[in-house]
This record gives sequence, C-alpha cells and structure tokens, in this order.
Amino acid sequence: AASAKIIDGKMVAKEIRDEITTEVSRMKDAIGVVPGLAVMLIGERKDSATYVRNKKKACESVGINSFEVRLPEDSAETEVLKFISDFNDDPAVHGILVQLPLPKHMNEQNILNAVSIEKDVDGFHPLNIGRLAMRGREPSFVPCTPKGCIELLHRYGFQIKGKKAVVIGRSNIVGMPAALLLQREDATVTIVHSRTQNPEQIVKEADIVISAVGQPDMVRGTWLKPGAVVIDVGINPVEVRRLPLVFFIFHDQARKVVSAITPVPGGVGPMTIAMLLSNTLSSAKRIHNFQ
Ligand code: NDP
Repeated sequence: AASAKIIDGKMVAKEIRDEITTEVSRMKDAIGVVPGLAVMLIGERKDSATYVRNKKKACESVGINSFEVRLPEDSAETEVLKFISDFNDDPAVHGILVQLPLPKHMNEQNILNAVSIEKDVDGFHPLNIGRLAMRGREPSFVPCTPKGCIELLHRYGFQIKGKKAVVIGRSNIVGMPAALLLQREDATVTIVHSRTQNPEQIVKEADIVISAVGQPDMVRGTWLKPGAVVIDVGINPVEVRRLPLVFFIFHDQARKVVSAITPVPGGVGPMTIAMLLSNTLSSAKRIHNFQ
C-alpha cells in the first residue's frame, strides 16, 4: 500500500528555532534588548511542571531570558494576579504565560484577562481571540498549538485556500482557534465535536484534517479521504512522562490512505514550543519597535 509523507515537526521546529536564535542576537547587538518570557506554574501537576521545564529550556536554547514563578496549589488568586500585574509592568518581560490548567479554586477567566494583551504570548486573552475571529482585525498573538499546525502546512507548501478543512475538537486553546485560522486562510471549515452526528462522513470530505480531540485512536483510516493532509495534535510521551503514547488518529491505517501526516511524537508538540518562542520574539520587537 502507498505510504504517506511524514510531516517532520521536529525538523521544522529546529529550523524556526535557528531563525529565532539569529534574530535574538541581531536584536541584542542592535539595541541591547534580550526578549524575556515569564512563566507561572501554580500547583504540583507533573505534566504541567514538565511543560514549564521544556519551555524554559527552549528559551535558553535560543537566547531568550526566562523568568519562572512557582506557587503552591493553595495560593490565593490575588497572589497570582499580583505577579501578573508586576510582569505587565516589567520592561524585561515581553511575554507572560500562565500554565493551564489552574487549581480549581481559581477563576481562569480573571487570570487570563489580567495578562496585558501586548504580552499575551499564549494568545488566550479574549481580545486576541476576538480579533482572530473578526474580519479586518489582527490579533497581537495567535495561540501556539494551532499556529504551529498552520505553520507546518505553510512550510510544507500545502495549499489551504479553497480547501475543505475539518477540525476535530473545539477547545479554546486548540480546536476553536485552529478553525478560525483555517478560515482566515480561506479554507471552508467544519468543526466536529462530541455532539456531532456521523463524524466519519464529515471527516471523509476533508482535504485537511486537524485532530485535537481528547480521545485516542478515534479517527480511523476509513474516515479519511484519500490524499488528505492530516495534522494530529496528539500527546508526546516524552513531554508528559508516565502517559502512554496517544494518537488521536489511528496512524497505521491513516498512513495507507492520506498523502501526508504528522507523527506523534515529533509533529505538533515541538511546533507548539517554537511558536511560543516566536511569539515572545515578536512581542519584544513590537514593544521596542525593532524590525
Ligand atoms: P479538550 O479536552 O479541551 O477538548 C477536546 C475536544 O475534543 C472537545 O472539543 C470535545 O468536544 C472533543 N471531543 C471529545 N470526544 C470527542 C468525540 N468522541 N468525537 C468528537 N469530538 C470529541 O482538549 P484540548 O483541545 O485542550 O486538547 C486536545 C488534545 O490535544 C488534548 O488531549 C491535549 O492533550 C492535546 N494537546 C497537545 C498539544 C501538543 O502540543 N501536542 C498541545 C495542546 C493539547 P466537546 O467540545 O463537545 O466536549
């Protein structure tokens, strides 16, 4: 059987990190500014701690400063808000990231709203999401995972304009912004979620599939249109230790049908972090008016 082209997210992310490294040192040499990312981790979740560690390491690898704040699970929301407010005012900080999910007693909306939209490198502020949804408006930042999915399509030269795209999942952080981005790029977009009837029929029509469903091995090979391009926002077990490798697409079957697909690991995961670095660099450039 034919075998799909593998979309190498690890390689593309490395390319992007190299470009960022060059830009960070050019900026430092020209105006003496080093981009800085503040990362807040509240609570003791192991997966969140691993994500934060990886983000810090990634910053170091491209020369971006990182500032980490760790607060205990039972911290008060006001304490978190105080740190955010200080980071909003801190000229050494160009990006602020609050690792989700937050402890249950905290109000996610209050906390995400408190991040200055000019430093909202995760792109989760409602104003940034709102602008993403509106014609003729430009968000200051686009959420990293969906941005990474689109960047992979671009760098591999897959056409989006005019194509039928299906996004599986409608979360605020992946599915919904992925659908908005595809629409901005002139795809015709359908969103499949847990209440969708006959998802397989809908997925089967798609030229482009982005799967961000919270359920492993859901999409079978028989669901996919021959020649489709598939981006699987699966989970990387290297990033989240102790979890089994989780594909949201049934890869063995899919690879016989589609023309190209991202692997897990090595697909979307590394792109997410590369986009975070890219957003932080863009923020520093914008704040300092450096081109
Ligand atoms: P959520 O759990 O917030 O959202 C999952 C979505 O999948 C929901 O919209 C849900 O629908 C939908 N869904 C669940 N079951 C089905 C089903 N049977 N059929 C159709 N749709 C279904 O997850 P996230 O969006 O935050 O993340 C998606 C996955 O991607 C997660 O498992 C996460 O671990 C992974 N991820 C990977 C990243 C990476 O860098 N590789 C980064 C971020 C996330 P409904 O809205 O109706 O409930």
